[in-house]
Amino acid sequence: MHYNIAVIRGDGIGPEIVGEAIRALDAAAKRFGFTLNYQDVLMGGCAIDKTGVPLPEETITVCKSSDAVLLGAVGGPKWDTLPGHLRPEAGLLGIRAALGLYANLRPAVLFAPLKDACPLKAEIVAGGLDILMVRELTGGIYFGERGRTTGANGEEAYDTERYSVMEVERIGRIGFEAAKKRGSKLTSIDKANVLESSRLWRETMHRLAKEYPDVAYDDMLVDNCAMQLVRNPARFDVVVTSNMFGDILSDEASMITGSIGMLPSASLGDGTLGLYEPIHGSAPDIAGTDAANPLATILSTAMMLRYSLNQPVAADAIERAVQKTLEEGWRTADIAAGKEHIGTRQMGDIVCRMIETA
Ligand code: NAD
Repeated sequence: MHYNIAVIRGDGIGPEIVGEAIRALDAAAKRFGFTLNYQDVLMGGCAIDKTGVPLPEETITVCKSSDAVLLGAVGGPKWDTLPGHLRPEAGLLGIRAALGLYANLRPAVLFAPLKDACPLKAEIVAGGLDILMVRELTGGIYFGERGRTTGANGEEAYDTERYSVMEVERIGRIGFEAAKKRGSKLTSIDKANVLESSRLWRETMHRLAKEYPDVAYDDMLVDNCAMQLVRNPARFDVVVTSNMFGDILSDEASMITGSIGMLPSASLGDGTLGLYEPIHGSAPDIAGTDAANPLATILSTAMMLRYSLNQPVAADAIERAVQKTLEEGWRTADIAAGKEHIGTRQMGDIVCRMIETA
C-alpha cells in the first residue's frame, strides 16, 4: 500500500517534533511493508510570513487530496498582535472546517512508567487511566451567533449554543463506534438540567443508544464530570460531548496524566481523511533547543495509522515502542522530573530502534 501524507510542520517546536514523527512513520512503513509520500504545506505563522495569510488555498487543496494530514503546532509571540482572522490559530479553525473534521479524539492515557507525573493520589489511579475524549469540533457555542448590544444595564454581549439532531447523531456515532473498539462503555456529557440544547443532545443520544445495545451507555452532567475526572477517572472509558464542554474537559483529562508532551489527538470527519497533531502548542520557549518531547507527535502517527491508513498493526507497534522507551527509562526534560534526560533527536532515534522490534 502507498499513502500520501500532507505535512504541516508549523512554528516553534513544530518542525523538530514533526521530523521525529516522520522518522517513526518511516520505521513502521519499512517494517510493515507499506510506503509513504510526504508533501510539505504551510500553515500558521510561517505561512503568514511567506504568503500573508495563515492558511493558503494550496494547503487546503493538498490536504484534501491526501490520505492524512500530520500537524506539528502553530503560533508564537511574533504573530500575537495580528487581528484575529490573520493569527496563526485562524489556520487551525480554517483547516478543520475546510476538511469537514467535526470530531476530535483525544486519548488521555497514564503511562505506567510516568505514574509519578500524575497529580492525583496514587490510590485513585492505581488501576491505570485510559480515557478517550470525543469532542464535537465544528458546532455549538464556538460557532453560534454572537454579538454585542445595549440592555437595561448598559453594554451586553452574548454567544449562542445551537446543535441540530444531525450534528449530535454524527458525533454520537463516533463515540459509540470508538467505545465498541475499546471498553464498550460510553458516557455522554451535557447540562440537560439547564440548557435546551443539552436536552436535545440527551434525547438524541438516548435514541442512538438503542442502536448500540452492546455498549453500556450513561449520561452525566458536565459539573459532575469535572468532579469525577479527578475523583474516580477510572470509571470512564469513552466520553462524548459538545465543543465547549469538550474543550474544557479534555484539557482536564490530559492534565491528570501529568504530561502535556505525551498526548496525541486525531480530528476526523465522515471519510477516512483525518488530521493528527499533539495536543500541546508550539512551545516557543524551547524552540530550536532540542528540548521538545516528540512522543505526543509520534503517538499521533499511531492514531493516523489506525484511523486513516488502516494499518492497526503498525499503530500498535509505535505505541508499544513508546511504552518500551519509557520502561527503559529514557526521558526528555519535561517528563524527567529534574533527573537525567535526553534531547528531541535522541528520543526519536530510540523510538525508531524500538519500532524495529516492538
Ligand atoms: P504550549 O503547549 O506551547 O506550551 C506550554 C508549556 O508546555 C511550555 O512551557 C512548553 O515549553 C511546554 N511544552 C509544550 N509542548 C512541549 C513538548 N512537546 N515538549 C516539552 N515541553 C513542551 O502552550 P502555550 O505556551 O500556551 O502556547 C504557545 C503557542 O502555541 C501560542 O502561540 C499558542 O497560541 C499556540 N498553540 C497552538 C496549538 C496548536 O497548534 N494546536 C495549541 C495550543 C497552543
